[in-house]
Amino acid sequence: MEGGKLSDYRRVVIKVGSALLVDRAKGLKRAWLAALVDDIAVLADGGVEVLVVSSGAIALGRSILGLGRRTLKLEESQACAAIGQIALAGAWSEELGKRNRRSGQVLVTLGDTEERRRYLNVRATITTLLKLKAVPVINENDTVATSEIRYGDNDRLAARVATMIGADLLVLLSDVDGLYTAPPALDPDARHIPHVDRITPEIEAMAGAAASELSRGGMRTKLEAGKIATVAGTAMIVASGDRMNPLSAIDRGERATFFRPSDHPVKGYKTWIAGQLEPAGRLRVDAGAVSALLSGKSLLPAGVRAVEGNFARGDTVAVLGPNGREVARGLIAYDAADAVRIAGHKSAEIAAILGHEARAAMVHRDDLVVSGMVDMAAVAAEG
Ligand code: GLU
Repeated sequence: MEGGKLSDYRRVVIKVGSALLVDRAKGLKRAWLAALVDDIAVLADGGVEVLVVSSGAIALGRSILGLGRRTLKLEESQACAAIGQIALAGAWSEELGKRNRRSGQVLVTLGDTEERRRYLNVRATITTLLKLKAVPVINENDTVATSEIRYGDNDRLAARVATMIGADLLVLLSDVDGLYTAPPALDPDARHIPHVDRITPEIEAMAGAAASELSRGGMRTKLEAGKIATVAGTAMIVASGDRMNPLSAIDRGERATFFRPSDHPVKGYKTWIAGQLEPAGRLRVDAGAVSALLSGKSLLPAGVRAVEGNFARGDTVAVLGPNGREVARGLIAYDAADAVRIAGHKSAEIAAILGHEARAAMVHRDDLVVSGMVDMAAVAAEG
């Protein structure tokens, strides 16, 4: 594998998809889990800090209750998650315990990573677990998360956790062995891509939307996860877990896709901004503003052509270039109504428009992260 051996990394997050852990008819795939934990124990014994993001609560609960394939109501899947999660966490703790490893269950909801104070709180807990030599076993708290306020897929959750704690590698184990030029199920000529330098729009176009029956995330959420991870300096591997000892398989060079981390990763506070999952609004800006942002300047109202969304000061907004692609993300200094009024105006005019002194920048550069995938040549060409 291009990125070296797993044991070369310092802190590794391993995300395990539902379909790998749970068989609809037979329940938890215990032998597979045991073999994975063997691999984890080898890494941990070698000094790597390992965290697990484990899906499977809903699938396991469903299987324990014998609910088959029928569609579940929200409260039913939440009840399944409650029943499945306790069994799932128990299995992880037992298998890790057999290999002399402690474990700690961490269940998070969207707000725990999207709100700054809660983010810092979760980070402190997870970091402390690592200090105590325990393997954090993390999942979304599906029992209380409702549809509007949930991740829904553990790919992005895992990326958010990985960047939160400064992991240098995120491994997504699922039922696909990496990225292909097209979804392989739909296109027999699809070619496997072993290495991705940068998640460009061309790479995104290859993903399609396919997801397996049991899990929510398809290749698209894996690329979303990849963007969150690589911008913050975390490498990502998408590999198949459809084999025993899937981590050893990666080290043996079995097929997988390696996503290279950015050479200029964002740090600290900006990591939190860069990974925000749902911006509250969007600002469409002109090419001049895009160049200013790329050279490290703040976003001034003059370059903003349109303001969309109903956001408040301090919310995260996405900044879109003339071609409609996201070029940056940041915390906005104005409420939406004021942003609309000053958009397109010179900073010197702001006070007169609003009737009071206010900040010159719509998004200050300290609160702004430029996306890792901006193609400057394309922006310049479009003017
Ligand atoms: N949190 C969900 C579960 O444990 C899984 C989400 C996903 O499949 O990514 O069932």
